[in-house]
Amino acid sequence: MPHPTTVHRVPGNVRGACPSVHESFVEPDGMLLRLRLPGGLLPAPAARQVGMVMAEARAGTIELTNRANLQLRGIPAPAVAMVRDAVIDAGLAPHDPESDARRNVLASPTAGIDAGELVDTRPVVAAITERLATTSPDVPHSPKFGVVVDAGGDVGLRGRALDLAFGAVRTIGGELRYEVRIAEALPAMYSPGERIWSAEPAVLIDVLDAVVDACRPVGRARDLIATKGEPQVWRDLEACIGGGLERCDRYELVPPRPSTDRVVGVHPQRQPAMVYVGALALLGRVTPDDLIALSDLAEGRTLRVSSSRSLVVPDVPEFDASRIVASCERLDMVCDPTHPGVGVVSCIGRNGCASGHVDALTDARALVARLAAVSPDRRPRSVHVSGCEKGCASSGPDEVSLIGGPGDGRYTVYRSRAGCPLRFGEAVADDLDPREAIDTVVNTCAPA
Ligand code: SF4
Repeated sequence: MPHPTTVHRVPGNVRGACPSVHESFVEPDGMLLRLRLPGGLLPAPAARQVGMVMAEARAGTIELTNRANLQLRGIPAPAVAMVRDAVIDAGLAPHDPESDARRNVLASPTAGIDAGELVDTRPVVAAITERLATTSPDVPHSPKFGVVVDAGGDVGLRGRALDLAFGAVRTIGGELRYEVRIAEALPAMYSPGERIWSAEPAVLIDVLDAVVDACRPVGRARDLIATKGEPQVWRDLEACIGGGLERCDRYELVPPRPSTDRVVGVHPQRQPAMVYVGALALLGRVTPDDLIALSDLAEGRTLRVSSSRSLVVPDVPEFDASRIVASCERLDMVCDPTHPGVGVVSCIGRNGCASGHVDALTDARALVARLAAVSPDRRPRSVHVSGCEKGCASSGPDEVSLIGGPGDGRYTVYRSRAGCPLRFGEAVADDLDPREAIDTVVNTCAPA
């Protein structure tokens, strides 16, 4: 049955708007739908349906985003309703556009299988998603309001800021709690003298409700902090939650262990004799046919999309890992953590976005090819190629950024060092054509 809710919007005309399954955007390469995947969970049969309908629509590529969502690009306008309905029928989005728009939950992509995790956060992620989807629409909160959930494992999301963050931690007495951050990232390590807010697992939804309610009049959590001041926001939250939310000295918590958002390669699971395979979609893109093939490869498992643009195939018996890797590589997915494409992200640029000054995607491909000649230990750890200063493809900070503009076809190259407060870091060269910008990056790689 058709759903009469789709609205076509031209980006830039709607302040603060976000595309969704129900609300397509017009882009130079066709219509775009954004498919929110709370926790990055993507059951293989549903992935297959997405690939099938995109192929049937003769649409473009499927982008993996840094919020671990999918963007379905290049959809011919007459096929938008067919794609939307197939996504809903696959169980990947609700019928209600308002509910769909609120389901922004970014979680550890290895929850439940991570050898180092403190807890399987999937039930918490499901509860948060349900709450966001069903919260009262009378006074809607921002469709960009998002929640990060970190499981404290080898693969994590510390360093990633959305509106609210919950990070699993243990007290030195062994109690499981969730560190709570509002409008800031869970830090990789605690600062000397820092006092940390944490909540009992039983009150997480109460904390979510209270923060959502507090944000409603102002929009995002950063606006709440700017309006009320951080001390007052926490006082209000403490008064609302009671004893389940406490502030403690950092030495009362076990410090966070080192983690990464990268999953490329074969990794042991917490389950004995099982591994997961992380396969990078080069520059965050797969074709509909590749998504169909990947879902067939997953054989009914639930794939996970990571914020680092990889797909995780979980629950692979150790003896079968090399077959899965070989199959992924035949689909041009990268399973080698030393591949030059690992750490390079790009938006589509001017070929798919009206705001783009440069063909960022083509230039990023050229950069990856050039970085292949540089040994892995000398390459920048992360490179962001962007069509314009909006920088959609990365939440940063990245070691190197190539930002399109202000002139068409020109780049400014930035380098960022630890602690730099500027979004892209310091500009090292500007007004460069694509080849000069790539040369600048390659020539400033660490000397051998
Ligand atoms: S960064 Fe600029 S060019 Fe790239 S997708 Fe975003 S708005 Fe478009």
